[in-house]
Amino acid sequence: QPVVLEVKNLKKHFPIKGGVFKTTQGYVKAVDGISFSIKENETFSIVGESGCGKSTAGRTILRLLEPTEGEVWFNGENLYDIKKRAFRKKRKDFQLIFQDPYSSLNPRMTVQELLVEPLLTHDLCSKKEAIEKAKEMVDRVGLSEKHLSRFPHEFSGGQRQRISIARALIVHPKLVILDEAVSALDVSVQSQILNLLIDLQEEFELTYIFISHDLNVVKHLSDRVGVMYLGQMMELAKTDDLYKEPLHPYTKALLSAIPNLSTTEKKERIILQGDVPDPSNPPSGCPFRLRCPAAHDRCVTENPVFQEVKNDHWVACHLYDEK
Ligand code: SF4
Ligand code: MG
Repeated sequence: QPVVLEVKNLKKHFPIKGGVFKTTQGYVKAVDGISFSIKENETFSIVGESGCGKSTAGRTILRLLEPTEGEVWFNGENLYDIKKRAFRKKRKDFQLIFQDPYSSLNPRMTVQELLVEPLLTHDLCSKKEAIEKAKEMVDRVGLSEKHLSRFPHEFSGGQRQRISIARALIVHPKLVILDEAVSALDVSVQSQILNLLIDLQEEFELTYIFISHDLNVVKHLSDRVGVMYLGQMMELAKTDDLYKEPLHPYTKALLSAIPNLSTTEKKERIILQGDVPDPSNPPSGCPFRLRCPAAHDRCVTENPVFQEVKNDHWVACHLYDEK
């Protein structure tokens, strides 16, 4: 499969303002130099604890936030070089689905209006055709025509997520970012929605970036997984490789905390010390060093380079530096 998306050294720093003159006192480096590429029709997951920068990364990739530095190439074009007005025309190619569809679906609009609106906004067809497409789309996501006249509050959480999926896909996007899209749902509803997403990916030939704090959820649908910590990518590998043989101490700890992950050898639970540090005041050297059981002198002074240590298996940790 060809590469569709290439993220190069992406940074998003937010200024912290303070004092009488509200001057910039420092920066939160929410995303601090991440790089990866995604192939066509692939599902790439970004995992990490809350506050690690994964949502900010997703939004910056879609240009919902302006980047501080870096490049995002999509089908051979740097998205950040496209003028604002021209980018508006491309916006439909990139859709974002959130955790809480209730806050992203206008409560005053019926399902039909919610589905017709993006088609008309992007000038993709006539109103009559849009209504036809809305009928097809509700059916495709497991709802029915009788739901078209109803309002978001009349649905369960899982059904509302089906509506936001329908709204995102009705314009036939190329890349869909799913930000904690199933996190608010019960486990049984979660798996229904995940299966729906897998089916739709094939039918609509979609490329997914799946953002989640839950390594268990992403396991079954991801082709590759990247693990973020304090704005940086700690490890990135094919799903099987990451779960069978995690290299980074952070990934090892996250995986050891999942109770019934069926691994052949029983791994010992690694308890992480402390919390994620304040992102406005990160530690020197390796961002993970304050919680790392393997931290050593070098980790205090040098931030490890993100490097490929095996075939398509990347890690940022001094334990894998060439001796
Ligand atoms: Fe731990 Fe050092 Fe590796 Fe960071 S670089 S993960 S502190 S061993
Ligand atoms: Mg988030």
